[in-house]
Amino acid sequence: MPAKCKQRERILASGVVDVPTLPLGAVRGALCFRCFEPADKILKCAGCRRAGYCSQACQKLDWIAVHKKQCKVLKIINEEDLKDYSDRRTWADYRRVLIRYGHMIQAMTEVRDTVFVVQAQPYCSGCYRSANQLSHREITLNVCRDCRLLHHCSDCPDSHPKAMCKAYQDQNKIEHFRHGLFENTGKASVIACTEVPRSNYKSFARSEGWYDYYVNISDKAFIKGNTTPDFTSITSTVAKGGPDNKEFEEGRCMFLLFGTDTMTMPLTVIAALEDLQILDLPTIKIHLLGATGREFLAMSCFEEILHVVPSIQCLDIAAVGPSSLLAGQGPSGYAPKYPLPCCPSCQSAGKSRPISAFQGLYHDFAKSPYYEKPDLIVAFNSGFVDGDDANTDWDKSIRLVVESGVPALFTTYNPREAWGEQSKMRRLGARFVVEPGENKWRSLVPMPEFLDKEYEMWHQNYWRYIIKGKQP
Ligand SMILES: [Zn+2]
Ligand SMILES: [Zn+2]
Ligand SMILES: [Zn+2]
Ligand SMILES: [Zn+2]
Ligand SMILES: [Zn+2]
Repeated sequence: MPAKCKQRERILASGVVDVPTLPLGAVRGALCFRCFEPADKILKCAGCRRAGYCSQACQKLDWIAVHKKQCKVLKIINEEDLKDYSDRRTWADYRRVLIRYGHMIQAMTEVRDTVFVVQAQPYCSGCYRSANQLSHREITLNVCRDCRLLHHCSDCPDSHPKAMCKAYQDQNKIEHFRHGLFENTGKASVIACTEVPRSNYKSFARSEGWYDYYVNISDKAFIKGNTTPDFTSITSTVAKGGPDNKEFEEGRCMFLLFGTDTMTMPLTVIAALEDLQILDLPTIKIHLLGATGREFLAMSCFEEILHVVPSIQCLDIAAVGPSSLLAGQGPSGYAPKYPLPCCPSCQSAGKSRPISAFQGLYHDFAKSPYYEKPDLIVAFNSGFVDGDDANTDWDKSIRLVVESGVPALFTTYNPREAWGEQSKMRRLGARFVVEPGENKWRSLVPMPEFLDKEYEMWHQNYWRYIIKGKQP
């Protein structure tokens, strides 16, 4: 029985941040909102007709944990959604209302996942009427039997492309694995570091990507020939090896796919150090900007930098951001340097990785007595042009990064964001060392996008670029 998923709010409240969020499969009607298990018949909440459950027991639990507060808000959105009805809408019309509902919900509640329940709702991909609107007109909304996530109404043909169906089937596999992982290990993510530190450096620029990294740079040669290079399925040779073996290899394949979601951070940094030709510095000082839970969660995987770059003795990271988790322990939001534990091999080689944190904005940190000039500034998926905090928080900090002349690595969730940032950087006169482009070390875990382009997937650190100071 899925015990941990059911208790996720309690686990979150105890300070654990690595907890799975509501899966798309639940919002789209295939999984239980409380335990995340599939059920042949999902019982819908009579109030909002959006939340669904495998049993009354799960419904009761969910009502107490979150849904009591959420249901009220969803009912208001349903009313609004009925007012917005029209027989036929375009994707542009549809996404516009979703954005508006998102703002409405944010003003009404802070209950986790409520915006997601609405913005990822089931809808017809032909006429863009929502499940809520169609059910009021007693028009059936059919679900695709293969992916169980994409819908079309009885007035419209099923139009979702084959490739998208496959991508959404992969989503189901990914979510299923995440829930199993959380039940078994208490963690919703994977750290797949190289166990024994390498004695020589192997070029990331010359590496072909993740598969090659796992096999030839890291220590996972055992996957050779067992999985497709994108880790979405095992090879046909392995599939012939009997059901137990197949299941084992499929689990391992997903484990390594999940590994890319955290390891993308240290690997994207290593690739940047190589591009900047500063791999031979014995101490590397990094300022991690806008660091949130995700970065702290993955802090232990940053040891990978010491494991694959033998010349680095000390990896000194300062995490700076308004929601920096370590902060608040020292004076004025500063948490002084603290030696993060290293593995026995690193310890005996005298390697260290101190971390410090500043809870605040980067331009304030730069004025503080704690600021030491870094070798590299890193901002993962900062959204400094498109994000909600773009003008208020980021503008000054980005100007400072450009003025400082320190090399800075930026990543984005998708190409459009990268182009937006590129033009802002150009306006500030920044010099590009690496122009925006697809990041070889992006996470391979695709995340469906609900507001931008229909069916689009985004990735952690999808695109990247590096700047250094200003144009001469
Ligand atoms: Zn359930
Ligand atoms: Zn409800
Ligand atoms: Zn339709
Ligand atoms: Zn499908
Ligand atoms: Zn180590």
